[in-house]
Amino acid sequence: MQKRDRGLIQALGLPLARRVKDSRVLVVGAGGIGCELLKNLVCAGFGSGNTQTDLGASTTQDDGSLTAPTSRVPGIVLVDLDTIDLSNLNRQFLFRKQHIKKPKATVAKETASQFNPAVNIDARHGDIFDAEYNVDFFEGFDIVFNALDNLKARQHCNRMCMAAGVPLIESGTTGFNGQVQAIQKGVTECYDCNPKPVQKSFPICTIRSTPSQPIHCIVWAKSYLFPELFGTSEGDSDVAVTDADNAEEVVKLREEAQALKKIRSLIGTSDFAQAVFDKVFYEDIERLRSMSEMWQSRSPPTSLKFDSLKADTDLVKQGQALSVQDQRNWSVEENLAVFCYSLDILSNRAQSGEQDMSFDKDDKDTLDFVSAAANLRSHVFGIPTNSEWEIKQMAGNIIPAIATSNALTASLSVMLSYKVLRSKVGRNEALAKPTANNSLPTTILSGKDELPLGGSKMVFLNSKSTERVITTQGLGHPDPRCPVCSPVYAKLRIPKDTKPTLGHLVDEISAKLKYEEFQISTSIGVVYEPDLDDNLPRALSDLGVDLNSNSFITVTDDSDEPRVDLILSTGPHLEERGGIDLDLSGLQELPFKPKAIVSANDLKIGDTSISDVMPMENALQATQITATNGHSERMQCAIDDASIGSKRKRNIVEDMQTAHKRAKPEAVDLETHVGGSNGAIILDDD
Ligand SMILES: [Zn+2]
Repeated sequence: MQKRDRGLIQALGLPLARRVKDSRVLVVGAGGIGCELLKNLVCAGFGSGNTQTDLGASTTQDDGSLTAPTSRVPGIVLVDLDTIDLSNLNRQFLFRKQHIKKPKATVAKETASQFNPAVNIDARHGDIFDAEYNVDFFEGFDIVFNALDNLKARQHCNRMCMAAGVPLIESGTTGFNGQVQAIQKGVTECYDCNPKPVQKSFPICTIRSTPSQPIHCIVWAKSYLFPELFGTSEGDSDVAVTDADNAEEVVKLREEAQALKKIRSLIGTSDFAQAVFDKVFYEDIERLRSMSEMWQSRSPPTSLKFDSLKADTDLVKQGQALSVQDQRNWSVEENLAVFCYSLDILSNRAQSGEQDMSFDKDDKDTLDFVSAAANLRSHVFGIPTNSEWEIKQMAGNIIPAIATSNALTASLSVMLSYKVLRSKVGRNEALAKPTANNSLPTTILSGKDELPLGGSKMVFLNSKSTERVITTQGLGHPDPRCPVCSPVYAKLRIPKDTKPTLGHLVDEISAKLKYEEFQISTSIGVVYEPDLDDNLPRALSDLGVDLNSNSFITVTDDSDEPRVDLILSTGPHLEERGGIDLDLSGLQELPFKPKAIVSANDLKIGDTSISDVMPMENALQATQITATNGHSERMQCAIDDASIGSKRKRNIVEDMQTAHKRAKPEAVDLETHVGGSNGAIILDDD
């Protein structure tokens, strides 16, 4: 033990301090939270020991044919894809100005190593989605720390940890708030047990005809006007056609867009700014005003004319001077000046060959334009205007990253990791892994000292409370319907230089598992079911399975009383084995899926009961059906009941599509909610 370890031993006790030193952990992300986390882990001595941990019997194979590692070297592995940017330096304190443009992972290692040279840090400048970071890689860690900034990567790491059976500490901050959660398959809820909110979108008519808040005008300027003038006008990602939208009105809006395209041909001429202005703030507004039915319950807009607004000055020059005053609320005339100035610059950029420009909050010219246009529109509709700085926050959905929130959250992650490691002290690690049939190992849940994950909690950093900044909540149980953590995970081992077919896989599954009928899906969708055997002679590699990478294959039981899904991951090849091998070590029998029973009469499409429009034999065992046929013309159906076989689900979707077309031919949205809804299984019926 080093001198510096004394404090650690006093605080944690010798057994846990040892466990910390001998741990091998993965940190995904070296950004705001990642830098703080790495600093804490290094200072606390994680991975600074030299005792190799025996992995126990559970990962060594009976026949000894696998080259699975039998020991774990202490250390911290850090994976990050990014390079350092100037804007990182106000909170990512492992980086300095001279590090700009260098990879975050390697610089973070360089700086953090100086705090404690005994720690073995393995920095990797790469993407956590890369093939080398497969299930076997994740299995090599005691704990995985997520320090990520996006949903996709968080979900990926969650899934990899589910497949590898490794505890995950998930963390995130939003402004002054933060959250840390410990996750373990079969023991706690996972990151995907609760559906994540989707980005807010607005009805098209609110944006284009009846705005009532500043954000509506900002979305209009950013997602409609800007792309119409300078980009490819398909944008509109924040705008959705919904039931509430008037079909006639939508057609008119399309015509309006056509007219704007004509104005686009004036780019570069001195008439351009005035043409755009009079089109969107006079003609379009006058047209809206003429639709009297629209203004029965709200006040009508007031149109603006370029000539009556402009002062006797050089608008472009005035706009240029104003654009730096971004914390001040500009007057209508000032907004006009910035409007002209930004159009002038953007036109020059378009003429010098820049095509398909898009709004970027950090591109000052586009921000100037969006701010001025949004404010002018707000003025037209009697909505309060905002400073450019405020508009930047709203347009970019920016919630500022706060260094102290990151620091507190990272330290909470480390505190939780102590609990997780403590639950493993003096015990064979195999016990801390869930059993294959998802039941909890009894030793983990029995007794006060053996709470799940050492008594870990969901921890919140709460800015609203002045009394309790940090609050906790017990960890939830795994959702038996969660598509990510309810299945059983297993590995598919494939001999080197062979090209196994789907038929080989089907034979292997039939031989090893007690499925009566089953379905197989890969990244390209369903490739096999009892009625669909055309693909059997085809190679797995031609069916969306990348044998060298992190491919997942889902096996779904299609019988009336189905067992849980089985998810197979591809991994390193077996060297000298005859055939394809399903590694089901420790797995005796797959458990059955949970059931939920609701009467078919409770299921409705709009106002119509499903049982009225289509034959529903017996009671439909479903708690929720959601079908959407939005402007994408795609029908999606989610049936929140794992106990319905997938074939049956497809039949229901087809019936619903037919019934829906019969009942409401022009309706664009269709939603049905019955009972509770969580962890829906999405069946994409394309
Ligand atoms: Zn889950």
